[in-house]
Amino acid sequence: MTEQLARLNRLPLRDDLRGLTPYGAPQLDVPILLNVNENTHGLPKSVREAIAISVERAVAGLNRYPDREFTELRDRLAAYLGHGLTSENIWAGNGSNEVLQQILQAFGGPGRTAMSFPPTYSMYPLLASGTGTRYVTGRRSDDFGLTAESAAEQVRAEAPNIVFLCTPNNPTGTALSLDVVEAVYEAGAASEAIVIVDEAYGEFFHAGTPSALELLPGRERLIVSRTMSKAFALAGARIGYMAAAPEVTDALRLVRLPYHLSAITQATANAALEHADALLANVEDIKVQRDRIVSELQDLGLKPAPSDANFVFFGGMEDPRAVWEGLLEAGVLVRDVGIPGHLRVTAGTEPETSAFLARLRELLAAGIR
Ligand SMILES: *Cc1c(COP(=O)(O)O)cnc(C)c1O
Repeated sequence: MTEQLARLNRLPLRDDLRGLTPYGAPQLDVPILLNVNENTHGLPKSVREAIAISVERAVAGLNRYPDREFTELRDRLAAYLGHGLTSENIWAGNGSNEVLQQILQAFGGPGRTAMSFPPTYSMYPLLASGTGTRYVTGRRSDDFGLTAESAAEQVRAEAPNIVFLCTPNNPTGTALSLDVVEAVYEAGAASEAIVIVDEAYGEFFHAGTPSALELLPGRERLIVSRTMSKAFALAGARIGYMAAAPEVTDALRLVRLPYHLSAITQATANAALEHADALLANVEDIKVQRDRIVSELQDLGLKPAPSDANFVFFGGMEDPRAVWEGLLEAGVLVRDVGIPGHLRVTAGTEPETSAFLARLRELLAAGIR
């Protein structure tokens, strides 16, 4: 046992938190960071300036509490998402992780169950344990796919209160077809399951891949979660949001902390949304690099999963740890997500992506794979 864990265990900690480790990817100081799916492009100068002006204005009113209902932000998010949504359908938090936590606080908790289909986002079990929600896992096929039939059958068998579907899925990058969402929603009717579709990477879908936002009308247990951390290059600002039936937002009002979205956060998000076009132009650039990674890895004899996200999950290696280390020696940090034979790499800028591919080519030529 580490000294840290021993110290922790001397505290009167909740039994269900004993032995847990906090979420956290290694944060190493290297030149090319392709490990946590951040937007590598940064904010365009015009957007930085607009945010600074908007925040400056908010600073003048910091003696007052912020708009508790973040009305302007909800209006802007509804307009951005389209699909006939209005501010009544929108809720936001300090990152989509906070919104997910609020959903678990409102609909999960002791005696209730949340379900997901690993490999998927590693925060789901942590959010469940933090809220005292039992966490169960379903199965995917050997190639990490999930069919409507299989997902629905498993949901029927578990009768969970909450189901997480992540699309494009992290860490595999692959999108779910909407028939899976529909089938899970129907299968969850018996247990009145809240179905959360986590579209954190929704803006990176290939053209023509539909969003689960299409399915919202008439489905009051469906929630589509989004974030400004990835496509909008605002991971540091902490802004996530969801779209759902108005009664779902009312449920989240019961558990949110008062004034949870600071005036600074609201000002930042509003300014960024006003410049969505400039930010989404970078998304197109990242998608080009993403598709390039998939095709070049294929050419190198590796096995990249199809990706609709800003990252690529790839297998076909015997010793991914050696590949990870070889990349790091060249200043390129990728993610070992703990799945045998696989690594995950974020699509970077053109030069970053080139550096990653060049180093990988070198390693393979040296017999490291
Ligand atoms: C990055 C990510 C998020 C976003 O989290 P924020 O709290 O909004 O930064 C949510 N879900 C998944 C699957 C992610 O990969």
